[in-house]
Amino acid sequence: MKILHNFFEAIIYPIIPKICTYCKCPLEYSEEYYICKECYRKIKFVEGMVCKKCGLPLPDGGSHCYNCKTKEKERKWWVENIRGAVEYKDPIRTLIHELKYNNKPHLSNFFAFLLNKNFKKIFGNIDIIQKIDIVCSVPMSGLKKLTRGYNQAELIAKKFVQIISTEKQNGQIIFLPKLIKRKKNTISQFKLSRDERLNNVKDAFTIKNAGLIKDKTILIIDDVCTTAETINQCAKVLIKNKAKEVFGYVVARDV
Ligand SMILES: [Zn+2]
Ligand SMILES: [Zn+2]
Repeated sequence: MKILHNFFEAIIYPIIPKICTYCKCPLEYSEEYYICKECYRKIKFVEGMVCKKCGLPLPDGGSHCYNCKTKEKERKWWVENIRGAVEYKDPIRTLIHELKYNNKPHLSNFFAFLLNKNFKKIFGNIDIIQKIDIVCSVPMSGLKKLTRGYNQAELIAKKFVQIISTEKQNGQIIFLPKLIKRKKNTISQFKLSRDERLNNVKDAFTIKNAGLIKDKTILIIDDVCTTAETINQCAKVLIKNKAKEVFGYVVARDV
């Protein structure tokens, strides 16, 4: 291992240096993730009070955010609740952008690490790992996946399941990356207003293998959450097909 390490440091490094994805400072080859310590310290983990439903941080306290409390009487929630590991701010915002648009699938390992760091705490007193039977990810359209080469949410979820499976005591966590499918091509959510976002993903999903999810507790993984409606609509199709309950967990919560 030492020889290999020296080889990397002496030969490869000058040609392809390992650098921090955010600030571009040089990293040692032994650094596990592509981020330096300084940039890591800038990441804001979601801590303290959050909206019980959608996971939005509530620095001033309270049980629900403004939208969940006032505007959303007509909005039906299918997902039990949604939580995010960190706030959607730099350096995370840039790292997610790099993962999605700059062909850096290896960053998914770092995001799985972030998901795991707060996982049990952030779901409060539910014993979330023992509760879940199935993990899946928010699907991408076939065309998008073809051009990108991968679905980032699926990569993150796959690695995350490997990590949490070691703590599962009652049975197994099954990873079903292809469980949910998109049946209509939606426009990228970030270009839309809040109301447009809610409509854009409405009934956008369908599922394969409905038999596998009857009476199961399912966790849906995604990279970013803004209105929470994408995950809510995924949960809808799972609940309609007799899943017992659905939780959502994302790397970055927009705040
Ligand atoms: Zn850095
Ligand atoms: Zn809320």
